[in-house]
Amino acid sequence: MKSNYVYDLLIIGGGISACVFASKYLQSNITKKVALIEVGRGLGGRSSTRISKRFKGWKLNHGSPNFNICNSKNNLLLKSFIDDLLENNLIKKDDSDLVFLYEESNLENGKEFDFSNGDNYLSLSSMTQLSQKIIELNNLRGEIDFYFESLIIDLKFNNDEWTLTSINGDKFKSKYLICSTTLLLHKRSLEILNINQIPLRKAIPKNKDKRIDLLLNSLEKQSFIPRLTFLIYTNEDYSYKDFYSKKYRYFYLEKELENKYKFERVVFQLQENNRLGIVVYSKNIDFVNSYTKAKDDEFYKQKVLNNFNELFEGNSSINQLTCNEKISIMRWRASQPSGLAVPLSLQINRKFRIGFCGDWFEGEGFGRIEGSILSALILERKLKT
Ligand SMILES: Cc1cc2nc3c(=O)[nH]c(=O)nc-3n(C[C@H](O)[C@H](O)[C@H](O)COP(=O)(O)OP(=O)(O)OC[C@H]3O[C@@H](n4cnc5c(N)ncnc54)[C@H](O)[C@@H]3O)c2cc1C
Repeated sequence: MKSNYVYDLLIIGGGISACVFASKYLQSNITKKVALIEVGRGLGGRSSTRISKRFKGWKLNHGSPNFNICNSKNNLLLKSFIDDLLENNLIKKDDSDLVFLYEESNLENGKEFDFSNGDNYLSLSSMTQLSQKIIELNNLRGEIDFYFESLIIDLKFNNDEWTLTSINGDKFKSKYLICSTTLLLHKRSLEILNINQIPLRKAIPKNKDKRIDLLLNSLEKQSFIPRLTFLIYTNEDYSYKDFYSKKYRYFYLEKELENKYKFERVVFQLQENNRLGIVVYSKNIDFVNSYTKAKDDEFYKQKVLNNFNELFEGNSSINQLTCNEKISIMRWRASQPSGLAVPLSLQINRKFRIGFCGDWFEGEGFGRIEGSILSALILERKLKT
């Protein structure tokens, strides 16, 4: 049966930016009726954890495994939020080994990478739980309602009120809307949602509002990096060659090696049951495209095992994998925005009672968790004024 829900504020998306926004919003709006709508089964979005039904006891962070904060401009809003997360024991400084592999002799040094500049932090639980716990910091009496497995496909704005329709036909109404995903604002929605007009464009037609037009025009120039992650559930007797005991270990591949092996990084994640999980990341466009076309998982799993073994052959810490390791593959159609970032000045539209946050806004955190968090903090502050 289709349902109708009414709220003061609706948030679309349950990634880290939406969770940061919701948490800060609840701090000063305890009487408001708030709901968060997410298509997935839980929170975290692109920084979430795969809890496999097939491989019991494994928790692999398959999107962003950790996050880095550069904050070169010393933004105090961001600094104090990160300090809060540290004080509440939600995160800690990540002092795991970070090894940079490059051509020639596989020598290792501490060179920096987009995802490792500045201070690195890891969740004290899993990445999914980090998003959950961020909300729980201020959702003390369960003020917020969650709707999971609800894909919003249509937006309407009439009589100063938003109406959202999910793919199941449920309707959600609110006076204010926060949208943390570009899916409903970008042309990729047409194919993914099988619709013929971008939902926000349909809700607010062209020339009705200059700032909405600017936002949609600027998003037209944004594209997205697809990625593959290979989750390797290693055999019981697989371990390091050395006695490394920290939870994570990161290997980054320099460009030439990345081109050769098709991996950008390999992240080892020690599990609670002491087994060693491995996540191999690839954004090599030829590799990702050929995987997408071929739809031959077994072939690509074997290829990843072979490349892994070749890459780490003779490495002093990493053992070879056998050909019967269990692997699952995750394809991220839009793992990160690239191209033009959206100006922060377009983040809020008071006439249409809508605000936006996410890693698609301008700033040094563009395309990373840092940008997601900062945009959410700025949005919440703007809403207050
Ligand atoms: C494989 C991978 C590795 C990465 N590595 C790093 C890293 O090392 N460091 C780093 O800083 N960043 C990394 N990133 C990027 C980082 O994960 C993102 O910047 C960050 O998680 C984005 O958070 P967000 O809340 O802005 O967006 P999202 O996490 O995308 O949240 C948006 C949410 O909205 C939901 N949604 C979308 N459309 C709808 C709809 N119509 N109806 C309902 N729900 C909807 C989505 O399911 C999603 O949960 C990585 C990303 C990937 C995929």
